[in-house]
Amino acid sequence: MQSAQRTAATHAKPKNTEEDIYTDLYNAILERRLPPETKLGEQPLAEYYGVSRTIIRQVLSRLAHDCLVKLEPNRGAFVASLSLEAARQIYAAWRLLEAAIIRDVAQSMTKKQLATLKKLITEEREACDQKDMPRLTRLSAQFHMKLADFCRNPYLSKFLKELVPQTSLAFFYEVKNMPICTKDEHSEILNFIAAGDVEGAVAAAMRHLDGIEAGLNARAALTRPQSLIEILKAR
Ligand SMILES: [Zn+2]
Repeated sequence: MQSAQRTAATHAKPKNTEEDIYTDLYNAILERRLPPETKLGEQPLAEYYGVSRTIIRQVLSRLAHDCLVKLEPNRGAFVASLSLEAARQIYAAWRLLEAAIIRDVAQSMTKKQLATLKKLITEEREACDQKDMPRLTRLSAQFHMKLADFCRNPYLSKFLKELVPQTSLAFFYEVKNMPICTKDEHSEILNFIAAGDVEGAVAAAMRHLDGIEAGLNARAALTRPQSLIEILKAR
């Protein structure tokens, strides 16, 4: 244990601002590398990132505000978990927001915004070719969050950006049915928007989210992770 901690400290990345640590942990959760209920110990994290426990506490507090981490009195911080029912409620809310966002964005999409979304899809394709599932998972979520960024109603985008990362806490998927947003489905949505077919885009997005939710499976077991620091070091 001691030698493991020394190793972790020795290999601490030069990422040590609060923002960098927040982004690193946020991405690790979004990429499904840190499963629900993983203990987020202040001391090991402080040693790994080479910062004070105060900074780690601030980061954990921000992640708790995002509903991605739960803080338990006397027990500390853990990656939050989601019940199957809550996951279904999130997808139900996501569908409503996605439809409203697409209807707005389709009226106002600029060439630059279209290019940004196409670039994300290209990156998804690369991650897919490289079989980099964590990166593909994050990019897939980012596609929806970037689309929301282009919505002129800031409340719609704010709500969607709160919801989407939380779907990474749903661990009810069989591995073969991991909720990866396929590049072709994202392209399909975007092509409808670019062609001015708003309802076609909404219908494609609903089929897409239905397909992801259909992968939810209450019987799928959550595999227990390696240690927190081993997971963080693996990137
Ligand atoms: Zn998607």
